[in-house]
Amino acid sequence: MDEHKKFKERNCWACGKRLNIYDFLSDNLEFTPEYILKLWHAPILEFHCCECFKNLKIHELKLIKNLGPEKRNCQNCNISLDIYKFSKIYNFLKLKELKDIWLNENALIFCSGYCEKYYYKIKKRKRK
Ligand SMILES: [Zn+2]
Ligand SMILES: [Zn+2]
Repeated sequence: MDEHKKFKERNCWACGKRLNIYDFLSDNLEFTPEYILKLWHAPILEFHCCECFKNLKIHELKLIKNLGPEKRNCQNCNISLDIYKFSKIYNFLKLKELKDIWLNENALIFCSGYCEKYYYKIKKRKRK
């Protein structure tokens, strides 16, 4: 039997491009394959191809940019970041989480995981 026949056929919701379950699996490594397959076969869900998903994300980031400050600075090294750079560094965050951090003036922004760790190390030391 053809491998592909086992899976439901999916097309990109936005552009209609045929989606591949294997790409979908490799894009979602944080979930188990069983969970991914369940999502894949869920009739109420629609998926986007990588290209459309990227465009969608850029569109969402633009909205966040318009709502909040243009730039923020790394709490540790003071380098200036915009929302696009920040979203790339924290690409493991969901858009909503990115938005909540970016728009919250009291949330600390870091340019890298290194700066984040460094900052908290110093802070801990100062407290002692
Ligand atoms: Zn598409
Ligand atoms: Zn930094």
